Order: sequence, then C-alpha cells, then structure tokens
Amino acid sequence: MQQYDLIVIGSGPGGQRAAIQGAKAGKRVAVVEKQAAIGGVSVNTGTIPSKTMREAVLHLSGFRQRKRDDGGFEFPSAARNRK
Ligand SMILES: Cc1cc2nc3c(=O)[nH]c(=O)nc-3n(C[C@H](O)[C@H](O)[C@H](O)COP(=O)(O)OP(=O)(O)OC[C@H]3O[C@@H](n4cnc5c(N)ncnc54)[C@H](O)[C@@H]3O)c2cc1C
Repeated sequence: MQQYDLIVIGSGPGGQRAAIQGAKAGKRVAVVEKQAAIGGVSVNTGTIPSKTMREAVLHLSGFRQRKRDDGGFEFPSAARNRK
C-alpha cells in the first residue's frame, strides 16, 4: 500500500496549490479527484474567461500608465505593425 504525508481532496486551483506547496516542503502528496478530468470547475466548466479579461485589462491600463510616466515608451515595432 502507498504511503502519503498529505492527501489533497480536489484538483481545482485550491487543491493544485496545496499539493504543490506540500511537494515543495518535501512531502509525498496524493491528489484525489472525483471527476474524470482534473482541474476543477475553472478548467472544466469554463470559469476562466473573466480572469483572462481581468489580466488583460490590468496589463493594458498599466501600459497606459507607464507610457504617461516615462513619456517616451512606444509599442515595439512588431506589435505596432501587427494587422
Ligand atoms: C458557476 C461558477 C462560475 C464561476 N465563474 C467565475 C469567473 O467567471 N471568474 C472567476 O475568476 N471565478 C469564477 N468562479 C470561481 C472559480 O471557479 C473558483 O474560485 C475556483 O474554481 C475555486 O477553486 P477550488 O480549487 O477551491 O474549487 P473547484 O475548482 O471547485 O475544485 C474542487 C474540486 O474538488 C473535487 N471534489 C469535490 N469533492 C470531492 C471529493 N469528495 N472527492 C474528490 N474530489 C472532490 C471537484 O470535483 C473539483 O474538481 C466560478 C465558479 C462557479 C461555480
């Protein structure tokens, strides 16, 4: 029989991080998932898009702020020329 230091129930973002932290601490970790696919609701039922949009907005608003602050920053030519 396998021996584990830590059993994580659920493979969503919470479970993934718990398992990674346990492994980083040198523990032998098992993840138990009742669904056929791992990843939790964010991966398997499509709750990721709002996170992606949030990241994009933060990135773009930060870009505008950086442009104002240093006055001289421009899009790299590769991005400027993209159609
Ligand atoms: C309908 C809905 C819409 C959402 N929309 C958004 C959104 O637009 N943007 C956003 O940022 N967040 C959204 N969320 C929130 C986001 O999905 C959660 O914050 C995130 O998935 C939570 O991760 P978690 O690991 O805690 O749980 P979950 O992702 O729910 O993972 C739990 C896992 O544990 C498993 N499990 C449960 N019980 C057992 C058991 N007894 N044995 C074995 N496995 C078990 C489940 O099958 C599941 O895979 C939404 C959530 C829901 C429900």
